[in-house]
Amino acid sequence: MSVAVRFAPSPTGLLHVGNVRLALVNWLFARKAGGNFLLRLDDTDEERSKPEYAEGIERDLTWLGLTWDRFARESDRYGRYDEVAAALKAAGRLYPCYETPEELNLKRASLVSQGRPPIYDRAALRLTDADRARLESEGRKPHWRFKLEHTPVEWTDLVRGPVHFEGSALSDPVLIREDGRPLYTLTSVVDDADLAITHVIRGEDHVANTAVQIQIFEAVGGVVPVFAHLPLLTDATGQGLSKRLGSLSVASLREEEGIEPMALASLLAKLGTSDAIEPRLTLDELVAEFDIAKVSRATPKFDPEELLRLNARILHLLPFERVAGELAALGLDDADAAFWEAVRPNLSRVAEARDWWAVTHAPVAPAADDPAFLAEAAALLPEEPWDLSTWGTWTGAVKAKTGRKGKDLFLPLRRALTGRDHGPELKNLLPLIGRTRAQKRLAGETA
Ligand code: GLU
Repeated sequence: MSVAVRFAPSPTGLLHVGNVRLALVNWLFARKAGGNFLLRLDDTDEERSKPEYAEGIERDLTWLGLTWDRFARESDRYGRYDEVAAALKAAGRLYPCYETPEELNLKRASLVSQGRPPIYDRAALRLTDADRARLESEGRKPHWRFKLEHTPVEWTDLVRGPVHFEGSALSDPVLIREDGRPLYTLTSVVDDADLAITHVIRGEDHVANTAVQIQIFEAVGGVVPVFAHLPLLTDATGQGLSKRLGSLSVASLREEEGIEPMALASLLAKLGTSDAIEPRLTLDELVAEFDIAKVSRATPKFDPEELLRLNARILHLLPFERVAGELAALGLDDADAAFWEAVRPNLSRVAEARDWWAVTHAPVAPAADDPAFLAEAAALLPEEPWDLSTWGTWTGAVKAKTGRKGKDLFLPLRRALTGRDHGPELKNLLPLIGRTRAQKRLAGETA
């Protein structure tokens, strides 16, 4: 059977780096196996699901290059969930319960105070038809719980190895709410079974869900997939990431932090694995290197500084074609490969190219603090056309004429030509600045 995986976010917030890491790992797993990747929106929480979050998820995945082969939306499938729920009721695996949230809280608190695990006591299973009729006549509506088998549940997790739960140590999960709507624990299994998902790769916050969901797969006659539960990313201080945490959202990394998609992908594919984090320019390279067996059980930390350093290393390697769109979006429509290659070694973010564009294409107030020397140098400027050899020829002549060398030779020229002490190699910048501007800047004029 061909490999099929899914990324199943709830569109209730922005994707953060932790969510999108799971999308990436699923995608890499699928591509490596020649399988397919499903994007499924878990949007049955109608109060919190929003179309703009769904759009945001698609935008973020597309930006990263994580194309999906199939798409599903749980809110399109209510009829199917009703059908499965009816079958589970008929088989006696779903039973109606009438406790209010307050009553359940009291039960839990009382068990916890006795030092016992807060497992639902199945009181609803002891209700008679008359009890139920009375509760319903009082206006109570049932929610429905799945009756777990009190047997061991075991699976071999691709990250955690053998996992064992006792059915009797788990609470019968609520699968249908009082208003008749199905909950994630059920809908996810129905979808995974119907859409023939072979591998469920998700965060370790779902390990206990897996124990109950395996029994649900069996009850609905679905094939139980292989599971892999990855440790969740934390922030640099070890705190968990939350979906509403704006600064680590994919959208803010893209739009505010100027992070390149391959910088994020290069980091997230390797974080928490035995591989070193290195800049990669294509997802294909990450696919080639991917192996879920390399994922470690230790909690990986996400460090924005590390991401920014990787972003810089990626920019230093990216060819002009890969950033032309971003440069144009910054208003640098005329930027070309020569400009990009000149400035990229000095960038951590593409937007910083604007500063160097201003140096090569807009008036600069030069720091012309050694006028006599600069005048001698200006007189030696070669005629155009200029190319990458012009700087060497020119400074060779200036050195011969003035006897200056090293910093004494180069720093005054840099300060006059760019107005700054540091920057891209002048060999690359000089032809972009051009003879007219260079001459004026050497004369101390803003040009
Ligand atoms: N919608 C669930 C979540 O975002 C999906 C979990 C799963 O992969 O089954 O946590």
